[in-house]
Amino acid sequence: MSDSFATLETLNFDNSYTRFPEHFFHRVTPEPLVDAHLISFNPEVAALLDLNPCEINPSDLANYFGGGNLLPGSEPIAMKYTGHQFGYYNPDLGDGRGLLLGEVVNQNGERWDLHLKGAGKTRYSRFGDGRAVLRSSIREYLVSEAMHGLGIPTTRALCLIGSTQQVMRNGMEPCAAVLRVTPCHIRFGHFEYFYYSKQHEDLRRLADYCIERYYPDVKDAENPYLAMYQQIAERTAQLVAQWQAYGFVHGVLNTDNMSILGETFDYGPYTFLDEYRPDFVANQNDTAGRYAFKQQPDIVQWNLTALAESFLPMVGEEDLKAVLRAYSHKFVAYRNARLAARLGLQTEQAGDAALIESLLTLFAEHKVDFNRFFRTLCDYEGAGAARDLLYPFLCDAAVLDQWLDQYDERLAAEAASFPIRRQQMRSVNPKYILRNYMAEEAIREAHDGNYVLVNQLLGVLRHPGDDHPEVQRFADTPPDWAGAICLTCSS
Ligand code: AMP
Ligand code: MG
Repeated sequence: MSDSFATLETLNFDNSYTRFPEHFFHRVTPEPLVDAHLISFNPEVAALLDLNPCEINPSDLANYFGGGNLLPGSEPIAMKYTGHQFGYYNPDLGDGRGLLLGEVVNQNGERWDLHLKGAGKTRYSRFGDGRAVLRSSIREYLVSEAMHGLGIPTTRALCLIGSTQQVMRNGMEPCAAVLRVTPCHIRFGHFEYFYYSKQHEDLRRLADYCIERYYPDVKDAENPYLAMYQQIAERTAQLVAQWQAYGFVHGVLNTDNMSILGETFDYGPYTFLDEYRPDFVANQNDTAGRYAFKQQPDIVQWNLTALAESFLPMVGEEDLKAVLRAYSHKFVAYRNARLAARLGLQTEQAGDAALIESLLTLFAEHKVDFNRFFRTLCDYEGAGAARDLLYPFLCDAAVLDQWLDQYDERLAAEAASFPIRRQQMRSVNPKYILRNYMAEEAIREAHDGNYVLVNQLLGVLRHPGDDHPEVQRFADTPPDWAGAICLTCSS
């Protein structure tokens, strides 16, 4: 932690992206939201920017991030990018309702992009109004903290701003804005823009910028562009492995929603699975199920292939193909490593992949609430211990017994005592996961002007493995209405 704090007025801006030629972006001023007010702010993210969380004035946050005033040093821009949406190239994309306000360098030398989502129209808004609604803003705000709490790479958010202004979505809905904070707003689609528009010199310039800022250790490689691509593929494989291990469905895995830093990016109709259903599609508009849960690893490989194509002016095709070929093994290895940790296995044994695979099959066949299963499994002592705590997850005890027999045998090869194993397992098996119905309850209350639950959930999801007695009900089976929640691209 820093020894001296900044204030909102003295944030250390250094806006490197604005030093690109103007066709990389265009300059836009945020449109103020009517009656902007603070709904929630995240002290941990404030600290990343060297702000003293205890001294931040809510009305200042509302003023600066409701678009009323520009922060000193901010130079807002809408970035140009393109991308493949549902498999088709769309050349007309760009920041249509979000603005990069600037980059803040903190006292540790870390550079953070401040991006205001819901800031009004830009040249890239097409038919949109440039706004984000409260519903989707709450969902983005909460899930970025939830992902961080699970240790899954993600963008973060400093604050959530409400407004009395309304726009048309599912009927008239209130607008809001989220101040997104992350080192990286460069998407696969940024590279695709320069590649498909045949601006290959600018493509290289963008790649050099990314190497300098995100992948400096590749500079000495024989081909730094290949080495960077390799690292992007690596991080992306790790990311999707974590999604699959926790049942996260992104919902709109277009290439413009893929960060080159391997962070979960641009949240829309995402879902954490209640029941383990591989065919689950989070986005009702995705009628073909392109972005179903089980499709994500393949789709991400597809997206990496699209990125590889954009690297062709800088890297040989065979080299890129070799990276892509390695992806599938890597993904499986990373996913299994995470699932093994969730099972309390600290060593690696020959039969682990089969043990994991049979568990996933069991989850799918019996539609198990698998995140609750894993949490409950932390309390299972192993061979000879009562299994009653686990039987409620399946109607077929014999099937579970069969798997648990194998698990008992496997646990015998682990050195850790039960209390140690339980502690390790609890650290990777959250008690609380951001289920759709939880976000939905927070949204309903916020629509009535009550922001208590949004703020409460923020704290719970930051430490999802701890006990939070005040919201114990969120650790239980979801209510019946949870399954009827319908999410779309509308945001
Ligand atoms: P998304 O589905 O949020 O990833 O957005 C896809 C593209 O549409 C991006 O270029 C967004 O900037 C743009 N977009 C989405 N919603 C709006 C909106 N309400 N107004 C203007 N542009 C939007
Ligand atoms: Mg997007």
